Amino acid sequence: ETGEPPEPLHRVSGSNYDADNPNSDRINATLLSLVRNEELDQLLQSMKDLERTWNHKFNYPWTFINDVPFTEEFKKATRQVTKAEIKYEIIPKEHWDVPSFISPDLMEESAKILEENKVQYAQMKSYHQMCRWNSGMFYKHPALKDMQYYWRVEPNVHFFCDVDYDVFRYMRDHNKTYGFTVTLYDSPESVPQLWPETVKFLAANEQYLHPNNSMGFLTDKDRRPSHNEAANGYSTCHFWSNFEIADMNFWRSEAYEAYFQHLDRAGGFFYERWGDAPVHTIGVGLFEDKEKVHWFKDIGYQHIPFFNCPNSPKCRGCETGRLTDGDAWLKGEDCRPVWFKYHKNEWALSTGK
Ligand code: GDP
Ligand code: MN
Repeated sequence: ETGEPPEPLHRVSGSNYDADNPNSDRINATLLSLVRNEELDQLLQSMKDLERTWNHKFNYPWTFINDVPFTEEFKKATRQVTKAEIKYEIIPKEHWDVPSFISPDLMEESAKILEENKVQYAQMKSYHQMCRWNSGMFYKHPALKDMQYYWRVEPNVHFFCDVDYDVFRYMRDHNKTYGFTVTLYDSPESVPQLWPETVKFLAANEQYLHPNNSMGFLTDKDRRPSHNEAANGYSTCHFWSNFEIADMNFWRSEAYEAYFQHLDRAGGFFYERWGDAPVHTIGVGLFEDKEKVHWFKDIGYQHIPFFNCPNSPKCRGCETGRLTDGDAWLKGEDCRPVWFKYHKNEWALSTGK
């Protein structure tokens, strides 16, 4: 597997992707967004970009999920920007609620410490709930029961490049589990106990570690030793999960479920501020073959403040190779050099060396 551009098989011509065709060439996949009613305008921005650059050719259904009911205004406005089917879903209460084994007092105390350490969203309970839900719950939603692949979309993201092939089919036919565009360092203060808990889990569950894992990426300390140290052995490199194209069957696997249960009990979604990005990354990095992780270098993307901006005539509105909005220090946040250090084939292809 080379990461070469997809074969003609995945192109539009000769295929039938009509929105209302029940026998279309679409596979079992959905565009997926957890979103709040108040984020309607920002979501419409994301939808319009993705429809223009990709989905108007394929008409994959959208699934919107919320912890409260969607408003009529939300439904009406979103229906106007796609021909594809849309589902509006509510999260089962037991998937969203803070688990009963979490102590509210300890949570409050912890939030103060996180705040002192300048961890973003430390005091925002719903943010912790969102991170936990994205880590171990979303793929258990009844509406996604029969779905295999998803493309996660957040409000107010941008897509810059025309993509002319069915990316879900690409994932399936190339046997990929997880696709990303941007990979970054995390703030170690948000995850100090994540790696120690992971090591504990591994010690008791060695059988789940994939022989061709991404341990090098997860534990690298050459480039940012201080991060590795503050995160107790974790490089903090993570796939930025506001963009994900992935196979939910991996999250549903015995290994990942056991790992999530361990982390949930350890309490770090609430006593620290573990994000779904590091949790997904460590899960995939330990329990999956690293060859099954794919960098979608051809999908131009921005979630403020970072970009993936390919060098291609298919892209408009972003600057080739740019990672950030300009702050020089943010460039140090890029984990791609670490990823490519352990994925030499892809690096060679992306640089031509
Ligand atoms: P950030 O990207 O880390 O700054 O976090 P966001 O505020 O963008 O939240 C991540 C995603 O979760 C976005 O798609 C939000 O719309 C969604 N989200 C976050 N909190 C909530 C919540 O309390 N309810 C709902 N329905 N969606 C949420
Ligand atoms: Mn966001």
